[in-house]
Amino acid sequence: MRILLVEDDAMLADGIRAGLKLANYAVDWVRDGDAARLALLDHAYQACVLDLGLPRRGGLSVLEELRGRGSQLPVLILTARDTSADKIAGLDAGADDYLTKPFDLPELQARLRALLRRAGGAAVPTLTHAGVVLDPASKRVTHNGQPVTLSAREYTLLHDLLRHKTHIRSRGQLEESLYAWGEETGSNTVEVYIHNLRRKLGADFIRTIRGLGYQLRDSA
Ligand code: CA
Repeated sequence: MRILLVEDDAMLADGIRAGLKLANYAVDWVRDGDAARLALLDHAYQACVLDLGLPRRGGLSVLEELRGRGSQLPVLILTARDTSADKIAGLDAGADDYLTKPFDLPELQARLRALLRRAGGAAVPTLTHAGVVLDPASKRVTHNGQPVTLSAREYTLLHDLLRHKTHIRSRGQLEESLYAWGEETGSNTVEVYIHNLRRKLGADFIRTIRGLGYQLRDSA
């Protein structure tokens, strides 16, 4: 799950990145509106946390441009601007949620989970497929009712596949959801995590679609 964080306060950004990383998100950070615009054009994100007061180009302008080109990307505004008029302007410009500073990290995480499950087309908090249940709030995974222990990367990969369970996910798409900028990516790490997931969830849980990528098996 890859998130773009747009925040010009470096200390605050560090705290948010650390917190979101612990929640298994890959976080790309930019500190001005122009860089945000370029990042949003160039990369596939699952959500964006957007400050409003930014150098070069304000957050509202970034958001308006994003919606202007039809993007459905979930956007959460995170700002010190706390008047009702600011919130209305942000939501009407196309934000999906609005959180004011100071804020609690657990609340930001919960709001992101809500945005992401809505974006995935589901209001129910857990993701289920063929006996496997993943709960994004607790990060617990069960298989036929039994708890399954996954590494952070295995969990992220499984979460991605469950969110797109009717789609084939290419290796590149899976890598994008696993790694932020500058993170070391081994040459066949996706294959390794898929192998581990098959070992833990059953050999046929994930199908390899030759030349295209991976897909969850049909639900029985
Ligand atoms: Ca700011």
